Amino acid sequence: MSATLIDGKAIAAETRAEVARDVEAFTARTGHRPGLATVLVGEDPASAIYVGGKQKASREVGIEPFDHRLPADAPAVEVEALLERLNADDAVSGILCQLPVPGHLDGVALTGMIDPDKDVDGLTPLSAGRLALGLPGLRPCTPAGVMVLLERAGVDLRGAGAVVVGRSNLFGKPMAQLLLGADATVTTAHSRTRDLPGVCRTADVLIVAVGRDRMVKADWVKPGAVVIDVGMNRSEDGLHGDVAFDEVSEVASAITPVPGGVGPMTIAMLLRNTLAAAELQIARRVPA
Ligand code: NAP
Repeated sequence: MSATLIDGKAIAAETRAEVARDVEAFTARTGHRPGLATVLVGEDPASAIYVGGKQKASREVGIEPFDHRLPADAPAVEVEALLERLNADDAVSGILCQLPVPGHLDGVALTGMIDPDKDVDGLTPLSAGRLALGLPGLRPCTPAGVMVLLERAGVDLRGAGAVVVGRSNLFGKPMAQLLLGADATVTTAHSRTRDLPGVCRTADVLIVAVGRDRMVKADWVKPGAVVIDVGMNRSEDGLHGDVAFDEVSEVASAITPVPGGVGPMTIAMLLRNTLAAAELQIARRVPA
């Protein structure tokens, strides 16, 4: 392997330690402890594990976790009433509605109810609009985590050609906006893109979030490119990314592994967003 490994696990641990220090300073300064409310509807085991991980990570950095669980058949009005209560609760800095929600509920509509200044997932229409307009706001955790990885790896984005493969609301679109905000020249590719390998080969920075096991091969990558692999594909022989790591790491100058690359950054950025949200609540309470 000739590429430098971008160690997401180590960078996420540093980020969490920074957040823990900043939470302590915030609490000393304001007398207020940041709080993260998670809302889980139903008993989906994977979602329960994710929520449990977020609660534990919060506690570790001094953020108060508030765990709200509703039965799978909870009517929409009950979930909406809970979100309204959390929006109004001063002890709650950030709110996260774990997706997917059961079929009778509208996950997009529920997420859209969250106060944008408490939207620690950065997924409400208002947060997306703020990002698109280049206004301050809470950014989606995984693309924000990729920006931290690129920064820590010393990647100069100004004027660089960046290709994002994938255009989901959760990752691809906000990723492209963040790169644009950092003065990269951005191309977004997707399932209808013509000559995808050729488009990828133009990239100085190639970011792949597709959900297809080891799709990106060595001859899709410009020699010396930085490659960020967001994909998480579970198979019988373990967890793999969207990039064929063994061969691409012979061509790229730097690359994230799977696991241990982008994945650990997501929760770290959720913690950082919760602290940022707590700062927003305090600023709102202080009369101008
Ligand atoms: P998604 O909503 O399913 O979106 C996938 C995107 O990939 C779509 O835009 C789709 O194009 C595109 N695509 C699908 N097949 C393609 C192909 N053959 N060639 C080119 N583009 C193709 O998925 P997502 O939520 O963005 O997640 C993508 C991957 O990232 C998944 O593996 C997911 O597990 C992972 N992920 C990881 C984290 C983390 O914390 N590490 C966070 C989020 C996501 P169309 O729009 O044309 O259909």
